[in-house]
Amino acid sequence: MEDNIIDAPSPNFDARDQAVSMVVLHYTGMQDGESAIAWLRNPASRVSCHYLIAEDGQILRLVDEAQRAWHAGQSYWRGVSAVNGCSVGIEIVNPGHEWGYRPFTDEQMESLLPLLAGIVRRHNVPPANVVGHSDVAPRRKQDPGELFDWALLARHRLAIARPTRDLADPHWTDGGFLLALERWGYDVRDGLAATVAFQRRFRPELLDGTIDGECRAILLALLLDRERGRTT
Ligand SMILES: [Zn+2]
Repeated sequence: MEDNIIDAPSPNFDARDQAVSMVVLHYTGMQDGESAIAWLRNPASRVSCHYLIAEDGQILRLVDEAQRAWHAGQSYWRGVSAVNGCSVGIEIVNPGHEWGYRPFTDEQMESLLPLLAGIVRRHNVPPANVVGHSDVAPRRKQDPGELFDWALLARHRLAIARPTRDLADPHWTDGGFLLALERWGYDVRDGLAATVAFQRRFRPELLDGTIDGECRAILLALLLDRERGRTT
């Protein structure tokens, strides 16, 4: 599949300070793909990514995986601040919430699967560390958003599936829920933002930040699965 990747180098990178242990998925959030590509390659933007997937499924490589691309900005996941140093960033073209959010195309998802599988294999990235930008920057970001097909990635064992079995409400207080959310990986300094990010990822039919029994049950199941070694 490497043959299908077109090099479109961006100058916006520097040296990694850590090994790759995460993948961060984004949408471009601009009116069209051409503008996004130009922006990500413009030295003045100071932003980039490793790969971009156009709406027709074409993959562009902007930064070599060995280098640190500048895609996540101020961010946090599972004890790591500033995740650019340890992550591969993939931008998927979509206008996003600001310009007309819509489902990602089948061609994009078909290109993403083998690309992501290769990254995960090369760097031994655990499924729980394949995350969205909103997961690592809940106060600032909504991408790739609630229309992104995480379930497809989960079926290919490339991301954590939404738990559906043995769901039981642990009846945590809201403070207890946020502690559990932090244990899963989120920066919970803004509890509402972290809860919405969690919903966007694991229960996208409700994005209002209300901590209810279903939110608690899903999070408990995720943490128990991790304890049992079913996820990492
Ligand atoms: Zn993003």
